[in-house]
Amino acid sequence: MATDQQCECCGRRISPSLLEVHCIPGVSVREREVDPIMHILPLCPACHGSMHSCAVPEREQRLLVGTRTTEIESRIRKVFRQKAYVPPPSPDPDELFASALSSGGIDLFLNGA
Ligand SMILES: [Zn+2]
Ligand SMILES: [Zn+2]
Repeated sequence: MATDQQCECCGRRISPSLLEVHCIPGVSVREREVDPIMHILPLCPACHGSMHSCAVPEREQRLLVGTRTTEIESRIRKVFRQKAYVPPPSPDPDELFASALSSGGIDLFLNGA
């Protein structure tokens, strides 16, 4: 939706449910977390397929990211921000204690090891 249902490679407009998100290789997990939108390309299935089968150089994939308009960039950013704000479900302390006890791991603490 953020890209106007457009493939960022061929510019074809397709149904958003068919658009696939390609992750540009050669990026560490850390870099990806800092600015995820600079390392992804929403692509149509055809372009995504050739991106992998033809092994498009990382440099050329980044050029495609560079041609993205600032409007689309801010819209994609918004999508990622929404996801980042969802709080993770907090684990139940009682459950954690029970599983630690049943696994025998709690003995380590009792023995001071
Ligand atoms: Zn395409
Ligand atoms: Zn891919």
